[in-house]
Amino acid sequence: MQIHRENSPSRPTVIVTRMVPGEVTIPSASVRILGDDKPSREQLLSGIRGASAIVTMFSDKVDAEFLNAAGPDLKGVCNYAVGFDNIDLEACKAKNVIVTNTPHAVTEGTADLAWTLILAVARRLIEADRFARSPEYTTRGPLGITEFLGTDLTGRNLLIVGAGRIGYATALRSIGWGMRIMYTARSRHVDFELAPLAARRVSLEEGLREADVVSIHTPLTPETRHLIDARAINLMKPTAIIINTARGPIIDESALAQALMERKIWGAGLDVFEHEPRVHPDLIGLDNVTMTPHIGSAEDKYRRLMTELVSENAGAILAGKEPPNRIA
Ligand code: NAP
Repeated sequence: MQIHRENSPSRPTVIVTRMVPGEVTIPSASVRILGDDKPSREQLLSGIRGASAIVTMFSDKVDAEFLNAAGPDLKGVCNYAVGFDNIDLEACKAKNVIVTNTPHAVTEGTADLAWTLILAVARRLIEADRFARSPEYTTRGPLGITEFLGTDLTGRNLLIVGAGRIGYATALRSIGWGMRIMYTARSRHVDFELAPLAARRVSLEEGLREADVVSIHTPLTPETRHLIDARAINLMKPTAIIINTARGPIIDESALAQALMERKIWGAGLDVFEHEPRVHPDLIGLDNVTMTPHIGSAEDKYRRLMTELVSENAGAILAGKEPPNRIA
């Protein structure tokens, strides 16, 4: 299904590859939405032909083939995400195509989801929910005092891997549990070290050894692919929890599944997967992993803010101005 919001042959066309909350509004352009659902690659490549700007989702691969399919009028790719590992920046540069993202708009929602997963894993929420729905709960009567024991968080050690916007917001939420915060990043982040976080900068190895909760917030880059591999997981405490709301390939999913099967760590909370939308088959049957289908920023208010940001970015690019969230 294609939805034409405005149409005039003299105006530049902005293609939005998926329906988004709110409305992509660019006064100087015709906006066309390709459809409700993810288009096939063929539908995507034929749908973007002639576009002056394209609003892409994190699952749209933007490479030379994509740029060639769009054609010579393309001036900008406005990613509806903060992460941009789906975009070949060099290919965009070679075609003088500007690339933008949506920082800040995703921060609170993704930090909330990281905490949803931390609490769900610590308190075995999925197992408990499944049991509460089962006839066994009604027939068996009150639970034994030793059943569904979780792990507590108060005063525990939290390691933030990737000390940026979402890492900060996730760390901030730990104050209610009086957690001791550590962070790891390539550079020093003084904001993490000041009140109220008072975080300690550590090496990844040191942090993994000490942490009770590890939360991943780096971008996916060649450097961070499999940053958490079997060796890294082996450093973790048997009582530790690992959360990934960043990008799936940052964790070696096979190594994690193996560690969870062998109960080498307490549990994992995953919003992202190495081969999305496929989940490693060994994870499916495990009760010490809680999984969500890449919904970090899936909250109406934040998604509408993302829609406003892509509109501002595309509008600026088409007007020949510097867009507010340029990444390349
Ligand atoms: P950000 O503000 O750019 O923070 C990322 C941090 O990672 C930076 O401060 C950087 O610090 C650090 N970093 C980069 N490379 C590193 C490395 N090799 N080792 C350790 N730290 C490294 O980004 P953000 O807004 O917080 O977003 C983080 C990521 O979350 C995004 O890239 C995106 O992939 C993901 N995300 C997922 C969802 C979802 O739906 N699940 C939603 C939003 C975002 P240094 O430069 O000092 O290393």
